[in-house]
Amino acid sequence: MTFRALVLEQADGRTIAKVTTLDEAQLPDADVLVGVEWSTLNYKDGLAITGRGKIVRSFPFVPGIDLAGTVLESRSPIWHVGEHVVLTGWGVGERHWGGLAEKARVRAEWLVRLPEGLGARRAMIIGTAGFTAMLAVLELEHAGIRPDSGDVVVTGAAGGVGSIAIALLKHAGYRVVAVSGRAELAPWLRELGAAEVLPREALTAPGKAPLDSARWAGAIDNVGGAMLAGLLRGTKPNGCVASVGLAGGADLHTTVYPFILRGVRLVGINSVEVPLPQRSAAWARLAHDLPAPLLDSLATTITLDEVPAQAAALLDGHVRGRLVVAIGGGERSA
Ligand code: NDP
Repeated sequence: MTFRALVLEQADGRTIAKVTTLDEAQLPDADVLVGVEWSTLNYKDGLAITGRGKIVRSFPFVPGIDLAGTVLESRSPIWHVGEHVVLTGWGVGERHWGGLAEKARVRAEWLVRLPEGLGARRAMIIGTAGFTAMLAVLELEHAGIRPDSGDVVVTGAAGGVGSIAIALLKHAGYRVVAVSGRAELAPWLRELGAAEVLPREALTAPGKAPLDSARWAGAIDNVGGAMLAGLLRGTKPNGCVASVGLAGGADLHTTVYPFILRGVRLVGINSVEVPLPQRSAAWARLAHDLPAPLLDSLATTITLDEVPAQAAALLDGHVRGRLVVAIGGGERSA
């Protein structure tokens, strides 16, 4: 039984990505075989597929940290043939062959049932990026940040995590400030729910003092580096900053003043290892809070063959919102 897959190989220390035909017997052993209908491209997939990040360590390898589809075979009592499932995280697409293929063999406990009313394509418009945005919003809520606490700022706003975070925060009633390096996308960010759009430099300019005037009740940061330091300097007393990503850099140069003089909390978000009850709850809320037309407006659909070029474009900051990949049976325009 053959199927199409994107396969990564290494030659002279470089990663080469090619769409090829594999046999089911080549898939890793695991208890559930999924017919993948849709996948997506996330920042981490971009790093893996281009080889710009050390994400994949054994080759040949099928990347893709997200997948949605239908159970084809199951040795587990949890899943039955024909059930609709979604998978993000757990090292799939990093250590275990992933979702950029027509078939994937995965562990039963990694799968989540598709919430009622959410199809495979829209689940992948959400994908790891949207799931992570949801986790970050939940952390701000857990920290007691309410819509009347003040502005919540989202950096890397036009990317996958950023755009979905804006929509989720707006839905929950927050006044959202978007930070984006792409001024031309400001009207789109406003449509998604941003009340204000700031250029990156508004936050990354070096501070003259360890603290700036207190502006943010909460923050979701996808950028790291000078951006995260700027957010911490400008967060209100008892505010909360969720650190999600490193699109601008992994370093963080800050002082302890935001923490000890303002009680600012810095929380980390890790979407990979999230226990099933929290996972299912996050997916249920995503399905409820993000209307279908809004999700559709975030997505650009690509084919498996277009993935390598789009992976590079994503890392170069040229992609708006989410890239969804039509795999088995997924119509390009669906
Ligand atoms: P995208 O590539 O879709 O978005 C990243 C955005 O960051 C870009 O659209 C751009 O937004 C901004 N950006 C890009 N380069 C720079 C730069 N050099 N300096 C400042 N801003 C920059 O990625 P995702 O949204 O999928 O992921 C965002 C980050 O979150 C990544 O670092 C990713 O690894 C991380 N991540 C972490 C997860 C976790 O579990 N912690 C899970 C998912 C993602 P704009 O043009 O609007 O400025």
